[in-house]
Amino acid sequence: MRTDRLLSVRNLKTYFLADEGVTKAVDGVSFDVSAGRTLGIVGESGCGKSVTALSILRIVDDPGRIVDGEILLTKNDGTPVDLVTQRPNGKFMRSVRGGEIGLVFQEPMTSFSPVHTIGNQLTEAIRLHERLNKAEARERAADLLTMVGIPRPAATLDQYSWELSGGLRQRAMIAHALAPDPRLLIADEPTTALDVTTQAQILDLMMSLQEERSMAIMLITHDLGVIAETADDVVVMYLGREVEQGSVENIFYDPQHPYTRALLRSIPALDAAPKAKLPAITGSVPHPFDRPSGCSFHPRCSEAIEGLCDIEEPETWRPAEGREVVCHLFGDREMAVSIEGRRS
Ligand code: SF4
Repeated sequence: MRTDRLLSVRNLKTYFLADEGVTKAVDGVSFDVSAGRTLGIVGESGCGKSVTALSILRIVDDPGRIVDGEILLTKNDGTPVDLVTQRPNGKFMRSVRGGEIGLVFQEPMTSFSPVHTIGNQLTEAIRLHERLNKAEARERAADLLTMVGIPRPAATLDQYSWELSGGLRQRAMIAHALAPDPRLLIADEPTTALDVTTQAQILDLMMSLQEERSMAIMLITHDLGVIAETADDVVVMYLGREVEQGSVENIFYDPQHPYTRALLRSIPALDAAPKAKLPAITGSVPHPFDRPSGCSFHPRCSEAIEGLCDIEEPETWRPAEGREVVCHLFGDREMAVSIEGRRS
């Protein structure tokens, strides 16, 4: 299932280089995204998920810089191109952003111009990619709105984004992202601002569009419930680094990293009493500028080993292809045995 690799991110490091010092927002992240599959990237706010997406699209704001790593995009002819070597505003990256990779944000108001109609913005996106006259592009725009479940597509083309409800606006934004027929859709918290019912509808829509188009999706969210419903593969990030990676089954049925397990404990169970209090993770994510020594999760980790976790950075343990855990509790046989003993 992992052979049809579309995007390979290797040891990506995106730092913000300011006079006050260096903020390591993304610090050595690696993962693959394959055609027809959904990669979920999960972690609390401030863990570097969005900066990872912005880095792939090469739209990180100053003073952010990709200081190391590769972002290999496989072209249609099968050859890889390292996006890190491309000029952020050059022709190639513009064609990637307007063609190969579509982007859906949490808040579509910031993506649509308030002074142009939805129709104008959609037809412009279509004509950047396809040689169509205005009437043909408008017809195609109406088809796209129909495809994303907008009930009155012709009327919506003449509306402005601020005239639509949150759910319709998010559907219109998905239509906009799909206009150039991308092979990868990056969705950054696409349903966070929506009510639960609309959230479920938008996720269903994304999944059915993926099936129709064999499109890869990279879904960024803080919500493990969203991951459970949509993802095939999962990367758990903490403070700019991946801490665990695996299939969605690995993460939900066999989570290993203490951070992943803490995130899972904070999801409400279906059979929980209505006012039952969920265990929250102790403390909050520190600013990457103040990264703790050793394992950066150690100040919040209930299993931290004094004298080890606060001093030494853990190695990555890879028990199987596509499975990674970055924690001192794993990888070293003796350590793992002694920890198993402590847990039982
Ligand atoms: Fe906790 Fe130590 Fe593992 Fe970090 S390395 S997650 S502090 S047990």
